[in-house]
Amino acid sequence: MDFDLTREQQEFRRIVHDFVAREVRPQARHVDETGEFNWGAVHKMGPLGLLGLQVPEEYGGAGMDSIAATIAIEELGWGCGSTALAVSAHNHLGQGPLVDFGSPALKERWLPQLATGKGRLACLALTEPGAGSDLQGGVRTLATRAGDEWVINGAKMWATNAGIADTIIALCRTDPGGGSRSLTQILVPTDTPGVIMGKPEKKMGLNGSPTYAVTFDNVRVPLSNTVGEEGKGLQQTLHTLSKGRVSIGALALGIAQAAYEASIAYAKERRTFGQPISHHQAIQFMIADMATEIHAARHMLYWAAWLKDQGRHFATAAGMAKLFATEVSERVCRNAIQIHGGYGYSREFEVERMYRDTRLMTIGEGTSEINRLVIARSVLS
Ligand SMILES: Cc1cc2nc3c(=O)[nH]c(=O)nc-3n(C[C@H](O)[C@H](O)[C@H](O)COP(=O)(O)OP(=O)(O)OC[C@H]3O[C@@H](n4cnc5c(N)ncnc54)[C@H](O)[C@@H]3O)c2cc1C
Repeated sequence: MDFDLTREQQEFRRIVHDFVAREVRPQARHVDETGEFNWGAVHKMGPLGLLGLQVPEEYGGAGMDSIAATIAIEELGWGCGSTALAVSAHNHLGQGPLVDFGSPALKERWLPQLATGKGRLACLALTEPGAGSDLQGGVRTLATRAGDEWVINGAKMWATNAGIADTIIALCRTDPGGGSRSLTQILVPTDTPGVIMGKPEKKMGLNGSPTYAVTFDNVRVPLSNTVGEEGKGLQQTLHTLSKGRVSIGALALGIAQAAYEASIAYAKERRTFGQPISHHQAIQFMIADMATEIHAARHMLYWAAWLKDQGRHFATAAGMAKLFATEVSERVCRNAIQIHGGYGYSREFEVERMYRDTRLMTIGEGTSEINRLVIARSVLS
């Protein structure tokens, strides 16, 4: 059993960490306060492979293993939750289904520009006003055949990147009768007539990661834009979400790591009753719990990524890792504020933003409750 990262993975972590420290972290407060997307940094990510982490090299991607991809999102999360979410969604949600299920023609058409940063980003739109956890029963966006085209009508919600994306993969109902084979993933270029973008949502955190409602009003795309098999949209989506869960867990882990580091620095500097607060056992215990849980979350995430790379069943491990890492991150950020006392509640200190940013992670890409259901189903079966 070897717990060490390979030399390539260690070197990649160092390169990404340095890049994030230089280009992403210093902008985190600005993107939070203004809601501006950090295109400056994202445009520089193409050559580093961060925009096509697991896209095969023949399509311009970096073709990395899942552990390296996990490390990349962890490091981005350490720097800025917003930018990390946009890049995670671009890689794992927007491009993942294309890589795993797209036809050669669709891959050739879209991946080279998405994976290299020559174009804009990619987006996956599953959620609707009446459908989040229950996609099978709830999706109403309808795609009907008209000759050699799909005609799509419906409304999606909470689509990360949609307004800054070239492509949206929309989960559509292609058999109005319902059932587990009634959903299909269809790629919609965002400049197609009838794609109507709402205003970016006003959110609690992650303000530099724009999230949109999208309406499809008689949107026509060729049948060849079907991603994977007609009627297999739900199964494909579940596969994509399993991979995405490792990524969201890694993002939460990165935020937790940053809050932990900030807590240690503050605890050594802040003095009460004549000594640094790091000398108080109550503070030491919070920091010890942070260190332990972060360590455990990291190993669970890398283990799930490793299982995937071995071609083994990884969905349960990914669900466990996402559940644990995101809830750890919330606890760590909560305690980071506690350690900072009143200053922790101030926008002048970064832990306040981290707490708001990490709050999404137990909700997006499978809530904690849904993850517990999936895990329970697996262990009880
Ligand atoms: C910032 C942000 C970005 C997002 N980005 C995207 C994106 O890029 N693409 C996309 O498609 N979606 C995206 N989403 C949507 C997100 O995936 C959903 O919000 C999430 O899946 C939960 O769905 P819901 O909001 O409809 O909640 P619901 O499904 O309505 O759930 C509400 C509550 O009920 C619980 N619940 C539901 N069913 C059960 C059950 N069977 N047993 C126990 N508890 C249950 C849930 O856990 C939750 O606590 C994003 C959301 C946000 C806030």
